[in-house]
Amino acid sequence: MVGPPSDLIRWRSFYFTFMRKICGMKYIFNALDAIKKEMSGKELYLFLDYDGTLTPIVDHPQHAALPAPTKKLLKEFIKQPHCKVSIVTGRALSDIRRVIGMQHITYIGNHGFEIDDPKVSFKGFDLTHTREILEYLKWQINKELVFFKGAFIEDKGICLCIHYRQLQEGQTEPFKALLHEIVVPFYLKNEIYIEIDKKVFEIKPSFEWDKGKAVLWLLNAYKKHVKGDILPVYIGDSMTDEYAFKALTSRGITVRVGRSDKSLSQYYIKDQNETNTLLSLLLKSTAKKG
Ligand SMILES: [Mg+2]
Repeated sequence: MVGPPSDLIRWRSFYFTFMRKICGMKYIFNALDAIKKEMSGKELYLFLDYDGTLTPIVDHPQHAALPAPTKKLLKEFIKQPHCKVSIVTGRALSDIRRVIGMQHITYIGNHGFEIDDPKVSFKGFDLTHTREILEYLKWQINKELVFFKGAFIEDKGICLCIHYRQLQEGQTEPFKALLHEIVVPFYLKNEIYIEIDKKVFEIKPSFEWDKGKAVLWLLNAYKKHVKGDILPVYIGDSMTDEYAFKALTSRGITVRVGRSDKSLSQYYIKDQNETNTLLSLLLKSTAKKG
């Protein structure tokens, strides 16, 4: 028996997640007809991860530059009357705004904890206590970095990101073990949350909030500003993008950069080199609506 709408949404989400597990991901370029059909008559809301999606993965986050053709495509999307663009990233809001450097875009930074949108305002969370803990952890980890050349802490205000891609061979596991030893007591007290992704160890606030919740919050906030149906399209490569893939399971198009049997994304592209090809095709379909 179908209960209230929230139950229906939960069951739909469960069904689609289950089917995804059974059927696996599809290569999006083999499903273009279905994609075009789904886009037809809808407002496109494009959500894009930055590192590894719009830019190739590099040794240091400061070296990740937005390629000129990608920037050009984003500019074209912004001009479209039936399209909105959001950049969803683990980077701090100030950082992502600086590297993208464009207006009329929604910036979602620090894994959803910061949202900067031209039309709606996000109140956020009281993170005073979290910040005190992050300061302490930063001090503790910094003391150990002298033994782990190549690792460094990126303080993003709301989150701490410890990068260890450049560690010497054999140091990765001891370093990860050390980080666990330092942070686990705080994790067990539910004072922080830990996320481990592509050679980064991230310490986040313990609030139940992530990229997926931020995207749903934004879509909901936008309902009153948009006349027709909204079709969210999310493209990402990170572990943290899985939150968004899950959140959009039954209501949008989700694309992972790189195939993974563990992912909840519906579709995949082979690697970051295919991002622009996909964006061009989406732009073409959107532009036709005029
Ligand atoms: Mg990424």
